[in-house]
Amino acid sequence: MSSDADKNAAPPLPEPLRIPVADSHTHLDMQSGTVEEGLAKAASVGVTTVVQVGCDINSSRWAADTAAAYESVHATVALHPNEAPRIVHGDPDGWSRQGARKPGGDAALDEALAEIDRLAALPQVRGVGETGLDYFRTGPEGKEAQERSFRAHIEIAKRHGKALVIHDREAHADVLRVLKEEGAPERTVFHCYSGDAEMAEICARAGWFMSFAGNVTFKNAQNLRDALAVAPLELVLVETDAPFLTPAPYRGRPNAPYLIPVTVRAMAAVRGIDEDALATALAANTARAFAY
Ligand SMILES: [Zn+2]
Ligand SMILES: [Zn+2]
Repeated sequence: MSSDADKNAAPPLPEPLRIPVADSHTHLDMQSGTVEEGLAKAASVGVTTVVQVGCDINSSRWAADTAAAYESVHATVALHPNEAPRIVHGDPDGWSRQGARKPGGDAALDEALAEIDRLAALPQVRGVGETGLDYFRTGPEGKEAQERSFRAHIEIAKRHGKALVIHDREAHADVLRVLKEEGAPERTVFHCYSGDAEMAEICARAGWFMSFAGNVTFKNAQNLRDALAVAPLELVLVETDAPFLTPAPYRGRPNAPYLIPVTVRAMAAVRGIDEDALATALAANTARAFAY
């Protein structure tokens, strides 16, 4: 018998991975329970490291503080591509649902970027992101602010020698164009990789990491599995993007780093390699991507 309560309940603990891996992109601050509980639950199934991702000034500060407090947490800091236009124009129906902000213009964006720049210098901050372009949630009126913010984040990542974490939603061509125009940092990660196999080949030639999330398990996501199948093993990462994108068969229920093994097993099946071999590669790749 199933009920609404079951549908909202946390999925059960998967069988532990034998080789520990990292969740390369998570939002612990949006998940239920304490950080300690989340990390302990993840570690109990072999997810021993997480990359905590900032999306605005507050969550970036929180990510930096949390990474300073926990050995197993690394931070990235940024203004999310849906956040940048909100700082410039204000947007009461915005992505973070924190209510309307007073439109602050370009000066407000510059001020926010200066804080990201300051945080990016911290040793426990291993990356700058998530930044990029999102044409799904942000309309054409926000494009200019998004692109300006994306370019600034690329510059910050390069100057501090940190990884660049890219959020690319329905904006593949423009993300690739801006990266080419600015010159990508040495270590660049496409988080929640959403391109096709052809784009995976472009990323592979450039040496960019492709991080696969729970949506690689979705029935309608054959394009992602095709991309995963052709991506060089040494450029593949795994992430939850929790609390979003819970892998099948738990789609729609709350996601958290402890569910990484579910996605790892699905990915191993796509690549036709065993779970331990994939986990070994994922662990090494994430450490290389974020230089920890
Ligand atoms: Zn994202
Ligand atoms: Zn994210």
